Amino acid sequence: MENIEIRTRMAPSPTGEFHIGGLRTLLFNYAWAKKNNGKFLLRIEDTDRNRYVDGSINRIIEAIRAYNLDWDEGPQVGGLYGPYIQSERLNIYREYSERLLAKKSAYYCFCTEERLSQLRNEAQKDDRTFKYDKHCLSLNESVIQEKLQNGEKYVVRLNVPSGIQISYDDFVLGSLSFPSDDIDDAVLLKSDGYPTYHFAVVVDDYLMKVTHVMRGGEWVSSTPKHVLLYRLFGFKEPKFGHLPNLKFVGTNKKMSKREGTSNALDFIKKGYLPEAVLNQLMFLGWNPGTEREIFSIDDFIKEFTLERINKTDLVSLDFEKLNWFNNRYIQKYNEEEFLDLLKKWSLNNNVSSLIFEIEKKYEPKKVLQILKLSKDRLNFLSEFDQIVDYYLNLPHVDSIALGKYSSNPKKVLTFFKEYLNSEFDYTFENLDFKLHELIKGNNLSTKEYFMTLRIAITGEIVTPPIIEIISILDKEMTLERLDSAISVL
Ligand code: GLU
Repeated sequence: MENIEIRTRMAPSPTGEFHIGGLRTLLFNYAWAKKNNGKFLLRIEDTDRNRYVDGSINRIIEAIRAYNLDWDEGPQVGGLYGPYIQSERLNIYREYSERLLAKKSAYYCFCTEERLSQLRNEAQKDDRTFKYDKHCLSLNESVIQEKLQNGEKYVVRLNVPSGIQISYDDFVLGSLSFPSDDIDDAVLLKSDGYPTYHFAVVVDDYLMKVTHVMRGGEWVSSTPKHVLLYRLFGFKEPKFGHLPNLKFVGTNKKMSKREGTSNALDFIKKGYLPEAVLNQLMFLGWNPGTEREIFSIDDFIKEFTLERINKTDLVSLDFEKLNWFNNRYIQKYNEEEFLDLLKKWSLNNNVSSLIFEIEKKYEPKKVLQILKLSKDRLNFLSEFDQIVDYYLNLPHVDSIALGKYSSNPKKVLTFFKEYLNSEFDYTFENLDFKLHELIKGNNLSTKEYFMTLRIAITGEIVTPPIIEIISILDKEMTLERLDSAISVL
């Protein structure tokens, strides 16, 4: 059997930010190429000049790099089949459109905008989907040449044969068939000299030797047009597979590419680890067929098969589940690694973090202790500031909060204050032993005393062990907090 290199691609359009659904699609393409020792390509499809957003090519590249899914061929890295930015390939599309024109598989169309909008209005009135009426197909050669010479504006249209079925096997959805009569004589080359998406995608997937086109389900209805183009050219078509689109949990609507909330880079900025986001995305349209949930990218590459891609329309991006994944990945870091991670995340993403204040205020050993107590409680890194605030700032407490577990919080706090004022050894082991002994020895309620102490010191009800926090804060800060709490009672 011929040994064909598996080649997949991601082909984003620079019309805005890189969407999290696009990242899922990219991940599947990446995994399939890597699994087969093939190549993963990145191609920028920037032929729609009306929707082009300045700067978005760079942001797409930045987003993909942030998830460490590097491409083997494409912008910035090059490759044998470049350029990989469609606006730099206009001469190629022109040449290929001429091939179709020569075969009469495409034709020049000189219809004016007025005529087209009249046709559209008529279709709307009769409740029909608009289809171009092939008016210009019957122009004879000399008229066409004359119009071209006169510099009349034109587009090149696909000449869709009537009365045939266009069928292909979708490796996700199964075999699909579409009547050619439902397909419009779509524009292939626009009057500005740019190709349309449908034309450029076919020419480029062919020239770049793409073997598998995996893309979002919204493209299913375009695929017959693409398949037809391959056949008219006489090219072997790639295998097509359409993935379920993403939706937010609790809704039944596809996430729109234009919704800002689903920008792939925002997840990183918020403090989701790339490996956690990718792990969640693996499950959006694929499942391993086992209970296993944690997959590194290498595990995924090993396990991924096209057969296990789900055949549903929509899959949910569930933020609770994403938080769970992220927390699991954070737990894998030890304190030193986590410190490094947190600082890099803050600096690389230009987001402030209290970790730098903590480092200024505490000796390195205590910094690590604070991280040990905090990191496993985080869903994402930007929660860190809120969780460690009481290591830096006097908490705000009032008599209501302090009275939550005690009818006489003043007595409780004064009791602790007296003891902690005399105690000089603030190691955790010492404080833990002595304070528990003190409470037990005096027959006092552990819950009343320690909860009231916790609220006075941190302003919160749920925290890591309070005695450990006190040993980090040390004597001066602990007493200051007790004094401050007593003063509001
Ligand atoms: N440029 C298209 C997009 O923005 C690519 C679709 C495809 O993968 O063919 O999604």
